[in-house]
Amino acid sequence: KPLLEIAGLTKDYGTGQRALDSVSFAIESPQLVGVIGSSGAGKSTLIRCINRLVEPTSGSVRLMGTDIPPLSRAGLRRMRRQIGMIFQEYNLVERLTVMQNVLTGRLGYVSFWTSLRYRYGEEEIRHAYALLDRVGLSGFENRRADALSGGQRQRVGIARALMQRPKLLLLDEPTASLDPNTSRQIMQLARGVITEEKMPALINIHDVALAQAFCDRIIGMRNGRLVFDGDPADLTRDKLADIYGGYDD
Ligand code: ADP
Ligand code: ADP
Repeated sequence: KPLLEIAGLTKDYGTGQRALDSVSFAIESPQLVGVIGSSGAGKSTLIRCINRLVEPTSGSVRLMGTDIPPLSRAGLRRMRRQIGMIFQEYNLVERLTVMQNVLTGRLGYVSFWTSLRYRYGEEEIRHAYALLDRVGLSGFENRRADALSGGQRQRVGIARALMQRPKLLLLDEPTASLDPNTSRQIMQLARGVITEEKMPALINIHDVALAQAFCDRIIGMRNGRLVFDGDPADLTRDKLADIYGGYDD
């Protein structure tokens, strides 16, 4: 059974042009799949249809053989627990510490007050320490999120997502707010943990060079359609022109 299977996924926001037009692909093994394409190509709609922040018009998303959407709100919540999210703007709770932010990953997406009321177990706290060590933030446990650099915030974001013990990781432009050097470090880290945890991951990334350097596989989108699906090495000049629409020079 594929880890993630997307079939005929279509999204029409009612604006005429389809944001996603019958997109199909499967992820069979733990790998980092980069989704590239121009602005408006449908990359973030694809990710949002997977975690159901956006309701697809038609088509299906299956995670480890189970259909998304589950019917109930509880089912949706359960499904989202299995999907770790990493965001461009990190989405940390600014007034919480690094440790508290990581621990909230255990709860899924709950409110600030709920997260403060919850009593974490010893095993959960040990797990959070281990993850902070893994992302290179040992010693930062009690630092407030608002005192961190962008790169450090994204490291917290990665640790928080892993705290969920997710079955799938979705990364939505995780390096778009970072400088080139920090971007490479974050990609290196993401790639490392995905390999170690043997987890499939889908990453929206507008930087083609970064995608080619760190992804195992590239999906190219144009006008809501999948126009490339293959090895980064096969992303030739012509293929890039298919995806981005002509040559720049
Ligand atoms: P990308 O992430 O590749 O930039 P998006 O998925 O954001 O692309 O957008 C795909 C298309 O869907 C675009 O034409 C965009 O304008 C449209 N779109 C995205 N979100 C909405 C929305 N909430 N309502 C209407 N149209 C939307
Ligand atoms: P609540 O019971 O608090 O409404 P929701 O599950 O609706 O809980 O989540 C609240 C908000 O958190 C959502 O509107 C969404 O923006 C965000 N959210 C929840 N789950 C996810 C997820 N898996 N990925 C990204 N954002 C999420």
